Amino acid sequence: MSSTAQIGVTGLAVMGRNLARNFARNGYTVALHNRTASRTRTLVEEFGGEGDFIATETAEDFVAALERPRRLVIMVKAGDPTDAVIREFAPLLEPGDMIIDGGNAHFADTRRRERELREQGIHFVGMGVSGGEEGALNGPSIMPGGPVESYESLGPMLEKISAKAADGAPCVTHVGPDGAGHFVKMVHNGIEYADMQLIGEAYQLLRDVAGYAPDRIAEIFRTWNTGRLDSYLIEITAEVLSHVDEVTGKPFVDVVLDQAEQKGTGRWTVQIALDLGVPVSGIAEAVFARSLSGHAALRDASRSLSGPKAAPLPEAEAAAFADRVEQALYASKIVSYTQGFHEIAAGSEEYGWDIDLGAVSAIWRGGCIIRAAFLDRIRAAYDARPDLPSLLSDETFAREIADAQDDWREVLVAAVRQGVPTPGFAAALAYYDALRAERLPAALTQGQRDFFGAHTYRRTDRDGSFHTLWGGDR
Ligand code: NAP
Repeated sequence: MSSTAQIGVTGLAVMGRNLARNFARNGYTVALHNRTASRTRTLVEEFGGEGDFIATETAEDFVAALERPRRLVIMVKAGDPTDAVIREFAPLLEPGDMIIDGGNAHFADTRRRERELREQGIHFVGMGVSGGEEGALNGPSIMPGGPVESYESLGPMLEKISAKAADGAPCVTHVGPDGAGHFVKMVHNGIEYADMQLIGEAYQLLRDVAGYAPDRIAEIFRTWNTGRLDSYLIEITAEVLSHVDEVTGKPFVDVVLDQAEQKGTGRWTVQIALDLGVPVSGIAEAVFARSLSGHAALRDASRSLSGPKAAPLPEAEAAAFADRVEQALYASKIVSYTQGFHEIAAGSEEYGWDIDLGAVSAIWRGGCIIRAAFLDRIRAAYDARPDLPSLLSDETFAREIADAQDDWREVLVAAVRQGVPTPGFAAALAYYDALRAERLPAALTQGQRDFFGAHTYRRTDRDGSFHTLWGGDR
């Protein structure tokens, strides 16, 4: 048992305790601290045998237990609690020490904290962690930002505890300065929202239009999971769909309230995209779909609105329809990743982070919620051309989406005819068609703005700004 710890974790709820155990299982001595000391004691009682832990009760003892430069991981509730913990520990630290915030902080808070702590010589690392409880214990995908010097000392430890991709590469990289890590984690979660919404729409279409029962749909998802859609979310979707409720004997999905919750990172992704002027319509639809699902009273009041009722296809046509849904899902997924990576590129540009998009896709290949075979191909696209203006500019993705689009359109036609809401699929196709369009109605928008507000307009044939004197009576 060492007398000093290489790393300390304060905040020992599900994430912190599992991360602490992960460090210990990988041979590090871990100092433990939690506001409520009983959590620390419980951890040591239950898992003390897994490795070297130093349990502490006061902030002073915790800091004293850490070797220098100190590495102190905060895993507490994001927001004010994080500031409270920093206020408690920062005065006890010395220049060169590191505070690593593994919570789901807003990147703007991370930028502020980094700036404030830098004045004291403390390295503040905003670290995105994905993979939930299980990932924290067995290997998450880790997205650390902060000063590059801190990664020299912290990086090897994070590489040890992180998930490993299929090729053995650790799912961690220094994402960029100050808030870059938390920004990338935020967009990861935004993409996760979009992935889940698209999968939900595919399920609903297979249910209402193909007429399949949940266990049959689970089989279809299992098949899809052996192909290009191979991913954690598709895998767990099959598990959820085949699960039977013990109380009623009905499919689990039929006894669960159809109102989804959200914590905030999806919403932030959309809010920041609006600030940066980046169209993330697929991610936005996913966030709005969760909001809409929660408006129970509005939905109750609207049930009598007129429209078609979905009528399942004849069995002979259902299998072909299911194949089309796979194409629509895949094409829409390419669009949501295109939008998410665009947002990361825009954030990187705005804040001077110089984020390597290929490296980001590489560290999402394992450990995190959106882990998927598909990310290997995104990495290859960015490795081949780091300045790729959009994922859709990559030849392979462009070809795949071209191959999928007839089916994608057919699926949307069926959804519209039968009144099945598919906001994610529709937004993705509209984005794709808008990018392809020779002319957009934005020309008309320019005219309208100039008409009512003299906002001027730009022309196709001459440089400069122009204004027209519209009608004499204005
Ligand atoms: P949580 O429920 O978000 O937070 C509970 C922890 O925060 C407890 O240790 C609690 O201490 C501490 N805490 C709350 N207010 C505090 C304050 N004012 N001062 C000091 N400590 C305070 O825990 P979690 O689910 O393990 O998540 C930890 C962080 O990881 C969060 O930022 C979360 O967003 C992020 N995260 C979670 C997941 C996930 O799947 N759950 C995934 C990735 C990231 P007491 O025991 O004293 O109450």
